Amino acid sequence: MNKFSWYEAKSVEDALSQANTTLSEELFKPSDQAAIFKSGGIDILDFLKEGLISPKTIINIREIPGLDKISHEHGVGMTIGANVTLADIEHDGEIQKNYPALYQAVAHAATPQLRNMSTLGGNIAQRNRCWYFRSVEHPCFRKNGDRCFARHSQTGQNEGHAIIDNGSCVSVHASSISTALLALQAKVVIVNDKMEKKEVPIEDFFVSPAQDVSRENILQKKDLITGIKIPTPTANTKSYYIKQVARESYDWSLADVAVVAEMKGNTCQSITIALGAAAPTPIRSYEAEALLKGKQLSDQNIMKAAEKAMEVARPLSKNGYKVPLFKSIISRALKGLA
Ligand SMILES: Cc1cc2nc3c(=O)[nH]c(=O)nc-3n(C[C@H](O)[C@H](O)[C@H](O)COP(=O)(O)OP(=O)(O)OC[C@H]3O[C@@H](n4cnc5c(N)ncnc54)[C@H](O)[C@@H]3O)c2cc1C
Repeated sequence: MNKFSWYEAKSVEDALSQANTTLSEELFKPSDQAAIFKSGGIDILDFLKEGLISPKTIINIREIPGLDKISHEHGVGMTIGANVTLADIEHDGEIQKNYPALYQAVAHAATPQLRNMSTLGGNIAQRNRCWYFRSVEHPCFRKNGDRCFARHSQTGQNEGHAIIDNGSCVSVHASSISTALLALQAKVVIVNDKMEKKEVPIEDFFVSPAQDVSRENILQKKDLITGIKIPTPTANTKSYYIKQVARESYDWSLADVAVVAEMKGNTCQSITIALGAAAPTPIRSYEAEALLKGKQLSDQNIMKAAEKAMEVARPLSKNGYKVPLFKSIISRALKGLA
C-alpha cells in the first residue's frame, strides 16, 4: 500500500473542495495527485491494498456532520444520510416495519462487522467484485485494457457473472442493497462543488458498460452523495427481498430479487421487480411487471412472470444455472407478498 495523506473533511463543501478524481477515473487513467473520498473505507481500502490505486490523499467524509441521520417526513418519504451505516439501517424500527425489502436486503449484506463500518453511500458507489477486475494482472476493459477475461468461453471464470446485458464487461454490480432500493424507486441525492443539489432516480444512477465501460455510476469528481430518498409506501404496499448466495455465513450475491407491490386483496395494482447480480447494473424486469399489473398473484401468473423475466437471459459458459435460480427466487419473492 502506498503512503498517502489524510484529509478530515469538516463539511460537504469542504470535502468537495478537496476532491479531484473518482475511483473509476483513477482505475482507468491513474494520476499521481489523486484525492479521493473514503466513507466506511471497506471498498476503497481493498483497492489500495491490492495496489490498484495509489492516491495522494484520502478525504475522510465519514465524520461530516448531518450525513449520518435517517429522517422520516410523514406522507412524503424517508431520507437515509449517505453516512448511515448498514447496521443502523438494519436496526431501524420504521424501516423494518415499512420497508421490509430494504431491511431484508441490508440484513443479508456482508457480515455484522462489515455492516457496522459500511455506509449506504459507499455501498451504492462500490465497484464490482469480478476477480479479473480486482487483479492488477488482468488489464480488463474497466481498467482501460483490451478485453474481458471473464467472458472467454473456455478460460473465463464467469460463474458469478451477468446473464443479461453481458455484451462487453460481464461483471455484476456488487451492491445487493441497490436491488431493494431500485424496487422501492429510491432517489440518490447528489451535491456538487457549487453546492447544487440533484435527485437522481437510482435506475439512472447506475451506468452500464454499453454506456461507458470506465464507470459504474454517474458520479463525477466533484459530486458527493448526501443521501438516499425513498417514497412513503401506501397502506397496501408490500415488499419482499431474497438473496441467493453460495455459502450461508456471508457472501456476495449469486442472484437476488426485490419486489414491491401495491395490493388490493390478491390483485396486484402496481408492481416493481428488481434483479441483482443478473446484469452489470441492478435492473428492473419491466416485462414481468407488465404481465402482473392488474392480475391476481396466482401460482400460474407468478410462474409466467418468472419465465418472462428470464426470456432476455443469455448465460455465459459457466453461469447457465442462474436462469432457473432467478426463476425460483422471483417466484418465491412474489409468493412472499401474500
Ligand atoms: C466480504 C464482503 C462482503 C460484502 N457483501 C456485501 C453484500 O452481500 N451486499 C452488499 O451490498 N455489499 C456487500 N459488501 C460491501 C460493503 O458492505 C460496503 O458497503 C462497501 O464495500 C463499501 O462501503 P463503504 O462505506 O466502506 O465505502 P467506501 O469504501 O468508503 O467507498 C466506496 C466508494 O464509494 C465512494 N464514496 C463513498 N461514499 C461516497 C459519497 N457519499 N459520495 C460519493 N462517493 C462516495 C468512494 O470514493 C469509493 O469509491 C461486502 C463487502 C465485503 C468486504
